[in-house]
Amino acid sequence: MQQNTLIQIKDLFVEYESNKGILGGKKIIHAVNGVSLDINKGEILAIAGESGCGKSTLAKALIRLEPVKSGEILINNKSILSLEKNELKNFRKQAQMVFQNPYASLNPKMKIIDILTEPLEINTDFSKKEITDIVKEKIQLVGLDESCLELYPHEFSGGQRQRIAIARALMLNPEFILADEPVSALDVSIQAQIINLLKELKTKYNLTIVLITHDMSVIEYLADRVAVMYLGEIVESAKTSEIFNTPLHPYTKALLSSVPQINSKNKKILLKGDLPSPADLPKGCKFHTRCPYVMEKCKNCKPSEKGISHKVKCFLYE
Ligand code: SF4
Repeated sequence: MQQNTLIQIKDLFVEYESNKGILGGKKIIHAVNGVSLDINKGEILAIAGESGCGKSTLAKALIRLEPVKSGEILINNKSILSLEKNELKNFRKQAQMVFQNPYASLNPKMKIIDILTEPLEINTDFSKKEITDIVKEKIQLVGLDESCLELYPHEFSGGQRQRIAIARALMLNPEFILADEPVSALDVSIQAQIINLLKELKTKYNLTIVLITHDMSVIEYLADRVAVMYLGEIVESAKTSEIFNTPLHPYTKALLSSVPQINSKNKKILLKGDLPSPADLPKGCKFHTRCPYVMEKCKNCKPSEKGISHKVKCFLYE
């Protein structure tokens, strides 16, 4: 653990029961399978991977929205898995979330001023004047005018609503923000504005942001470090420049090769088949059913993590 580590995730497992399928019976979904990861104060750490790889479940577990089967999560060296109800309320002030869909995440019946005031009224003893001053400061911070406070969410564009959602996430001065696909529901022309806003806020307030996204272009521009996830495991993690310039894991290479802006010279790597079901995990290296470099031992043995700052789980590097 480094001195500036904010979040430590240790050998974390999250699983849940699926709904009944057409044949009946429930299955166990193994969503997060032994994740260990440190997240430093003031960094943007991106968790990348295909839809269904477990990244959103991992993020929800970080803020106790998903029950954990085993493992540990420490924030500022304190376990968040053993927090009592009143401690959990305090913890939730430290950790805020920005969701994918700004249309669904703001209550359509509330004016913007009430949406922004609510977290302060519930969680602080500030006077009415102090609360109003903070609301005005935060709305300006996200690039909107005070005049918007008396309006309702439907009176704004998607990009403006996402700015409001970010302002709400900032109301309690959180230590970290989980941003789950924060721009994927927005028009391409608006995405850059929201990405730049997150970058500015991170620099200005030394905010820690855990960015969940499948979009490698967003990661390249925004993230300081990247953890690549496949079937609930982190298969590679490193500084963003290292992941993009010298990717090691075959899955990371395939992810990057599918982005034309990033991969102008190399051939696209087509993966065999679909992502296996997290209810029926492959033995050995979980990527072996799709890996172009699969070897016999990959089918039965699990590769261990190698490397110090650039870490990878693959027999090609053992
Ligand atoms: Fe491919 Fe084997 Fe490496 Fe897994 S361990 S990524 S199957 S080469």
